[in-house]
Amino acid sequence: MWVVPEAAIADLITPEASFEAVEAVFAAMAAERAYNFPVIREAIGHGDALYGFKSGFDRESLALGLKSGGYWPGNEARGLTNHQSTVILFDADTGRVKALVGGNLLTALRTAAASAVSIRHLARKDAKVLGMIGAGHQSAFQMRAAVKQRDFERVIGWNLHPEMLSRLAQTADELGLPFEAVDLDRLGADSDVIVSITSSFDPILLDAQVRPGTHIACMGTDTKGKQEVDAAILARATVFTDEVAQSVSIGEAQHAVAAGLLRAEDIVQIGAVINGDHPGRSGGDEITLFDGTGVGLQDLAVAAKVLDLAIERGVAQDVAF
Ligand code: NAD
Repeated sequence: MWVVPEAAIADLITPEASFEAVEAVFAAMAAERAYNFPVIREAIGHGDALYGFKSGFDRESLALGLKSGGYWPGNEARGLTNHQSTVILFDADTGRVKALVGGNLLTALRTAAASAVSIRHLARKDAKVLGMIGAGHQSAFQMRAAVKQRDFERVIGWNLHPEMLSRLAQTADELGLPFEAVDLDRLGADSDVIVSITSSFDPILLDAQVRPGTHIACMGTDTKGKQEVDAAILARATVFTDEVAQSVSIGEAQHAVAAGLLRAEDIVQIGAVINGDHPGRSGGDEITLFDGTGVGLQDLAVAAKVLDLAIERGVAQDVAF
């Protein structure tokens, strides 16, 4: 069995390679060549932690396995990342365990890659202003991946906890873009693309705050009960997702579907756009919304890529098992 420790990942995979892996697996899902299995995610009643499994199989790449882990909100105070996860890959021909791969950085990279894929395929080509809602650990990865997709001229941001906004300011500075903290009215009025990545359980962005032509990537809602935007926005928008089953159960669309504002059959898999089976954005005034719920196949795709690179570069540890 190969082991690729968390500390080795940063030197192995680039955001560009993560983007390619995630875009390819979204395409494979829409073509029904890759499947996610039902997600297990439970509040374990200890340390406010959410713990679970995401798994799947890609018949094309033969990536088979799972990501196990979750969210420990008290970790930051311990100097650790709140999200903790590990990917286990299995040999699709024998069922034997193939590799144990650190999943923390990979989770951030594959999540940022997903919203970036949505921006590449759905945002207006002339998008200039990126609006960020959320300033936690993932937000910096989201911003770095998003700005590669269009010629953004500035970034604006809002966060419930204003003391965290310095992360967005620093990241924008690193990327050579001006940053301004704004209220939600300004954020909606000025942004061409909005990325939300929070742990919110109530709508943050309201329908009246979103103007025609905006692309919104809702990336924080990955559990039943969470919500980042007004359900009415999903009624007005064309809604895309990584996987419809997750979108309507644990994703942002759960609320609009429950309220009868959106039908599951009207939600489009982003892979259909990548494959050319759906036209994507139909015009400059359309609101497009990507419900990025986070699927196991994303984790397997980036972990399989890392494993190949780690073996190639002699960084993977071979353990008798
Ligand atoms: P974090 O703990 O570092 O940051 C949390 C963010 O949410 C901060 O911006 C914080 O101010 C904000 N927030 C917290 N409570 C809030 C509330 N009640 N209302 C509004 N905002 C609130 O977390 P992170 O690592 O940046 O992750 C952010 C979210 O993204 C998490 O909820 C996580 O589950 C989700 N996530 C989703 C995916 C996916 O694939 N869709 C992947 C990774 C993380």
